[in-house]
Amino acid sequence: MKDHPDHLAAAWSELVATARRTVADGLVVGTSGNVSVRVKDLVLVTPSGVPYDQLGPSDTTAVDLDGRQIIGRLRPTSELPMHLALYRSTPATAVVHTHAPNATAVSTLVPELPPIHYMAAALGGPVRVAPYALYGSDELAANMLRALRDRTAALLQNHGTVAYGASLGQALERTAQLEWMCRVWLTANSVPGHTPSLLSAAQLDAAGDRLRGYGQRSSHPA
Ligand SMILES: [Zn+2]
Repeated sequence: MKDHPDHLAAAWSELVATARRTVADGLVVGTSGNVSVRVKDLVLVTPSGVPYDQLGPSDTTAVDLDGRQIIGRLRPTSELPMHLALYRSTPATAVVHTHAPNATAVSTLVPELPPIHYMAAALGGPVRVAPYALYGSDELAANMLRALRDRTAALLQNHGTVAYGASLGQALERTAQLEWMCRVWLTANSVPGHTPSLLSAAQLDAAGDRLRGYGQRSSHPA
């Protein structure tokens, strides 16, 4: 094998740790989400139906960009089409898919998460909801890609979230920010007799400009 085993082992270890975080952080119940990371022309991905706390080094699962299994005996996640579509069409290095509860609830209510907070700018702007399609289908992957145009995260109608990034940590952080924003909107929108104020496109753009400036010095905008 041409790839460096140490490099792959480290990537697999980080992928498993990230998958476990999605459960620990309440973004996923059981094995209902999935995580992947690209290492050159390989995509390491969580296998289907194996609890993350049982995954070890010998369970390493990897496919090429056409979905052919290159490493491992366990079946890759059923959502492989979504992951591969992202690696083919975006600069993604890592992808996190979850069924986070607040985000999934919002996906059933609106075609786009209303811009309730400026952190939407960190995801590229107001987060869209990809129309429903059967899980694991190419149709779902296509709907997801459309919803992700100029964005790094999207909601999947009656299903969950998807986010990508330059690292597993960034994809997970974006997922957590999206889930948090959905929780804020649901909370504000559920106060009887009140309608939440929303940000304008200009306000979001200004926040985006400032976030990009902060991003060069710190990953923790105020
Ligand atoms: Zn799913």
